[in-house]
Order: sequence, then C-alpha cells, then structure tokens
Amino acid sequence: MTAADAPGAGRFTLDTRLSGPLGGRTAQAIERAFGYRTVGQLLGHYPRRYAMRGELTALASLPLDENVTIVAEVLEVRVRDMRQRRGSILEAKISDGTGILTLTFFNQKWRENDLRPGRRGIFAGKVGDYKGNRQLAHPDYQLFDDATPLDADSAAAKRWAESPIPIYPATGSLASWQLANSIALLLDGLGPVDDPLPEVVRERRSLLGHLEALEAIHRPEAAADWKAGRRTLRFTEAFVLQTALLQRRAELRAHTTSARHPSSGGLLDRFDASLPFELTGDQQEVGAEIADDLAQPVPMNRLVQGEVGSGKTVVALRAMLAVADSGGQSALLAPTEVLAAQHLRSIARMLGPDLSAALVPTLLTGQLPAAERKKALLRAAAGQSRIVVGTHALIGETVSFADLGLVVVDEQHRFGVEQREALRLKGQHPPHVLVLTATPIPRTVAMTVFGDLDVSTIRELPVGRAGIESFVVPLADRPGWRPRVWERLAEEVEQGRQGFVVCPAIEPRVAEDDGEQLEASEADSTDDAKPGASVASVLAELEAHPRFADKRIAQLHGRQSAEEKDTTMRAFAAGEIDVLVATTVIEVGVDVPNASAMVVVDADRFGVSQLHQLRGRVGRGAVPGLCLLVTSSESGSLARQRVEAVAATLDGFELARVDLELRQEGDVLGASQSGGRSSLKLLRVARDGDLIADARELAAEVLAGDEGLERHGALAEEVRRLDAEASGYLNKA
Ligand code: ADP
Ligand code: MG
Repeated sequence: MTAADAPGAGRFTLDTRLSGPLGGRTAQAIERAFGYRTVGQLLGHYPRRYAMRGELTALASLPLDENVTIVAEVLEVRVRDMRQRRGSILEAKISDGTGILTLTFFNQKWRENDLRPGRRGIFAGKVGDYKGNRQLAHPDYQLFDDATPLDADSAAAKRWAESPIPIYPATGSLASWQLANSIALLLDGLGPVDDPLPEVVRERRSLLGHLEALEAIHRPEAAADWKAGRRTLRFTEAFVLQTALLQRRAELRAHTTSARHPSSGGLLDRFDASLPFELTGDQQEVGAEIADDLAQPVPMNRLVQGEVGSGKTVVALRAMLAVADSGGQSALLAPTEVLAAQHLRSIARMLGPDLSAALVPTLLTGQLPAAERKKALLRAAAGQSRIVVGTHALIGETVSFADLGLVVVDEQHRFGVEQREALRLKGQHPPHVLVLTATPIPRTVAMTVFGDLDVSTIRELPVGRAGIESFVVPLADRPGWRPRVWERLAEEVEQGRQGFVVCPAIEPRVAEDDGEQLEASEADSTDDAKPGASVASVLAELEAHPRFADKRIAQLHGRQSAEEKDTTMRAFAAGEIDVLVATTVIEVGVDVPNASAMVVVDADRFGVSQLHQLRGRVGRGAVPGLCLLVTSSESGSLARQRVEAVAATLDGFELARVDLELRQEGDVLGASQSGGRSSLKLLRVARDGDLIADARELAAEVLAGDEGLERHGALAEEVRRLDAEASGYLNKA
C-alpha cells in the first residue's frame, strides 16, 4: 500500500475529484447544485454567516421585524394548497419550551421530509406577523444530528454552545448541515497543501497558512478563528487575482502589432468635416487617448465607459476610420442580432453615402441567408469591407479578415471573454481592442476586474437632450395607481410619441433568459408564488384597454426569431408601432428618438444598472422622456430602495455607487456579471479597495523578482485555476 491510498489524513489533494472522498451520489448532488467537482472547489464554498448558539432569542419574546436565531424542536408540519392562487404552503410549528412559532414556506413541500416532528435545529430569519401571530417566512435552518448534547450544564454542551455554527449557502436538496458534513470529511482527509501566498507576504501581513485558514473558516471554535481564516483567504483571493492581472498585462504589452495612423485629408478627416454636431469635450479627450493608443505598435486594450447616449458609438467609429485610413479593417461586435443590425444602420447613416461606399460597412451574423452570408464573408476576407458588424458569428471559424486592425466590443457584460480571445487571433498581429460599456464601473471594480485594461470615461452628455423624468409607482402603498400608468402611457402615445413597456417575463412563469435579472431570493420575498407581470399578460391588458383600441402594439422577446425581432425593431424605429411590450432584449443600445415613455413593470425584479439602461432608451432626442418604475415591493425593503435609487438620479456613476452599497452581501463580481460562478468568494470590491491595492503592490513585487512564477509553483497553480474558472469576468482581451 502506498502513502497515497493509506487511510486517514493525506489521502487526497485540492484537485481530487469529490466522488472519491464523498461517494458518487453526494458528489453528483454537489455538482448539480453548485458545479463543484474537486475538493478545492468545495473547500472554497465558505459559510455565508455564522450563527451563535449563545446568542439565541427566546421564542417568548420575539421582536417583530428583527433577525433572530432560535434553537427549537419541530412540533408539527402541515402542507396545504393556497386559497387565492396556485401553489402550496408549508407550515411548521416549532417550540423552544417558552413559546411556539410558525415557519412558513411557499411551494416547498419537500421540506416535509426535513422538518419532521421531534427534530431539533437552529432556525434563523426575520420575524413577521401574520394575522396577529409571529412567524418566520422562509427561514434558514440547520437541523442537528441526534448526537447533539442537550444537557445544558455539561462542559460538552458549553463548548458546543460557544462554537459558531457555519451556515452555508444551501439549496433545496443540499442543506447547510449536509455541506458542513461533507466539508468536514474533506478537511479530515486532506494531505499537505502548498501555500499560494509566498512566505514573505504571509509573514509581512500576519496571515495564516492556507490549510490552517481553511480549517478556521469551516470549523471555527471561536469567532476569532473564522475571522482570521477569512482575512487570510480574502487576501489570498485579492493577491492571486492581481497576480493574474499583472501577468496578463505584461503578456499583452509583450505583443507587437501594426501602429495605425489617420492620414491627413483621409477618411477620418472627411468624416469629422461631415459631422452635423460638435464632439463633446469628453468625446474629444477620449478620442485623443484612443488615437494615441492606436499609434503605438503595442495592442490597445481600452475600456470606454459612458452613459447611455453619451456618444460612444461616434467615438468608436472615429477609431475605425483611423484604422481604415491606414488600410486596416475593424470588427464591431454587438451582444445581439438586433443590436448588430441597428449598429450597421446607424453607422451607415453617420458615414453618409460617400464614406459608406468607400468603407463598405457589412453585416455578418449567423441568421443571414446563405447567399448574403457568403457575400459578407468574401468582403471581410478580401478586405473590401473595412467595417464588419456582427455578433458571435463574426468569430466563427469560417470568418477571416484581410487585415484586422481593431476590434470594438459593444457592451462587454454580454460578451464572453473566450469569444474576444478567438477574435483576437484572427489578425496576423493581435488587433487593437476597444471595449464599450454603458454600465459605469466604480474605480475599485475597474481595478479589480479590468486591472489589465486602460479605462476612459465619457461623463458629459451631448447638449440638446430633453431629459427624463422618473417616478416610482408604489403599488404596495397605492394600488389605485395602476390604471394611471396605462393612462399616462396613452397620453404619450396620443401626442404621436412611442413607448416601451418592459416586463420581467415572457409569459407568466417563463422568465426571459437573462443572467442579470435578480433572482427573487427566498429571504426577500414571502410572495414568490405570485406570478410576475409578463409580456403576454401586459399585451392582453393593453389590447383590451379602450384607450389603446386603435393603437399599434407589438411584442419583442427572446423567444422570437432574430428575423422577427429585427422586423419589429425596424417597424418601431420607423414609427409604425406605438407601444412595444418587451423583455430586457431591448435593453442595450436601442436608439429611437421619438420614444418618450418607458414603463417597467415589476421594476424591483431588475438590477439597478439594468433599470438605468432601460431608462436610457427614452429621452434620447428632443422629446422629453418619462420613466415609470412600477413595483409592488414594500416601502423600506431593499428591493424598493433599489428602485427608488434609480428614480432619484440620472447619474449612472452615482447609481453604480448606490448599487454597490445596497448589494452588501452580493458579490459584484458574482454570477450576475460574470454569467457564471465567481471564484472571488470573499472579496468585495465595494469594501476591499485598500486591500486590493495592497495586494496589487505585493503581487507586483513578487512578479518583479520572478516574472514567470517559476519559484512560486503554488501561486502559479492558483493563477491557472483562476484562469480556468473565472475567465468569465477576468478580462483576457
Ligand atoms: P451611446 O452609444 O453612448 O449610447 P450613441 O453614440 O448611440 O450613444 O449616441 C446617441 C445619439 O447621440 C446618436 O444619435 C448620436 O448621433 C448622437 N450624438 C453623439 N455625439 C453627439 C454630440 N457630440 N452632439 C450631439 N449629438 C451627438
Ligand atoms: Mg451605443
């Protein structure tokens, strides 16, 4: 028998598959729930918080509206169908000997198997009131196994009572305590683990060893343990991330590419002379930064952030013209076919007939009819088209360019890094890359996520915008205001203007497949059985409404074909549709100056930045915009605060700051922005700016002495893991 398969400690490493130590069934359940496959991944599943048994609230004195933690025994469980609407409700009565409390769960019948009478556990949640009785709706709970000491005076019971209980992010089928058991098994059997932090760094910042930190965060004996463990692991995340970003930055700067200069009296000059407006100061400044970058023989790698409507497209087009002047081609990537088609139209319009003839802007998407697609492919390959606009199809293997000099990515949040990377490989030299985003990014986030990108900002809006007025329609307080929403919309339409109504779902219970939509979290909503407003239901409502009887109403959502969506968008842009009932597919970049009204139904189901983007669809021309944010969320709730924040300001940077603050728990780098699981579990860019800056400095020192990390194997290994797992947000461009 070798040491590797000896029983006891040291049987496996961070890369061991979970099925070994945990068995196939558990491993499968964990993979299904969280996507973890290895020991290291599950050990990176840190407790969301810790409950203290010593700070328990007695049931007899439960304060309303406060978060409480209670140790109690299940008395009885009942499941019944709800009377008013579809769905079931599970009620469990629990008691701690001083009183009885009801727990309620909507549509979670399966908890019956869990909450059996006689079982004891710890329950945590916010105390609500239902018909005069105290209750916890959707509490977190952890049931004890039967060996838990119950004699309150014994030493064992005292130790037990004083140790923090880790509460893990759990799912319906994997409870927190099951995860705790699996993690304990892994910690018991884990062999030696190399420290990703270099020893000097660890000592200078008084941090724990890696294994020690994992033990402390998962199995603390006192609060000080998990705090120290968390501090070490949080620093490690920042350090590994900054190492990766600094390495990438160095790699990028090591490449050479063609420098691109505009020629005097050339395409860019002709374009500037024909512009019907003056560029704003910010547009000029950012334009100069881009021109400087393009003139270097090193690939540009720049993010331009600017409000919706701040004129980023013009800035990008001028960069494309500079590249065309030196004989190169540009590719513009949009997140959807609708937007690609719209970009092409507005580029052709801005260029005018002469420049269009010279540059042959061409649409190349997956949905093109075969003959057209072939023609577009030829134009790209022959270099005849200097501007190629498209979606993912642009980076399909059959697409080649004669001389790709610049890649412009519109709305980086929707675009995979791998795709950008593939496109980068299309040129003989890596092309310059310009990323446009209308989602303002606070400095700390930019440093964390885009540590290898240069950032330019357009703050100034072009003059002559009529502005937008925003209002919250709080149905929880004012149910009677609902009809007024449609009246207001009708008033806009009757003045010859157009409006959008945005809904969170396509049909009742069919959500638009959109990563940014907020999950109605269990804790946030005791009411998640209620179907949200949908495109289908709003459409039916408007069609039946007397004031919309002769109005042209259409729908737009992700289940339609690209052709259908494009036809509808064109008709709307041409003024042939009065009201467009849509999901967030209309979110980015849609530009219809005559559109004046934006109604967002169930606005609390959207994120702050998403609402801000949606609002940016109106008030783009000389017509003043009106934005109605309709919500049923309770006054004072987090959901309501988010909606109110959006109504309170038009400043996207201010909103980004508020959003960070309101997210508290939420990981700004988490699933919502990366489109997947984030490997940054503990780092909070809103709070950890200083830590990130510190880690960056230390990482730079380590890299200065060991560029390829040859003498820092464990760190190199962590960087590799991060690359593999987190390429969704780690910007490789
Ligand atoms: P963004 O892409 O940043 O949302 P666009 O580039 O689409 O914004 O610009 C929005 C609208 O404003 C377009 O119709 C564009 O022609 C116009 N525009 C851009 N820059 C200016 C400017 N400096 N002055 C007036 N209008 C402008
Ligand atoms: Mg745009």
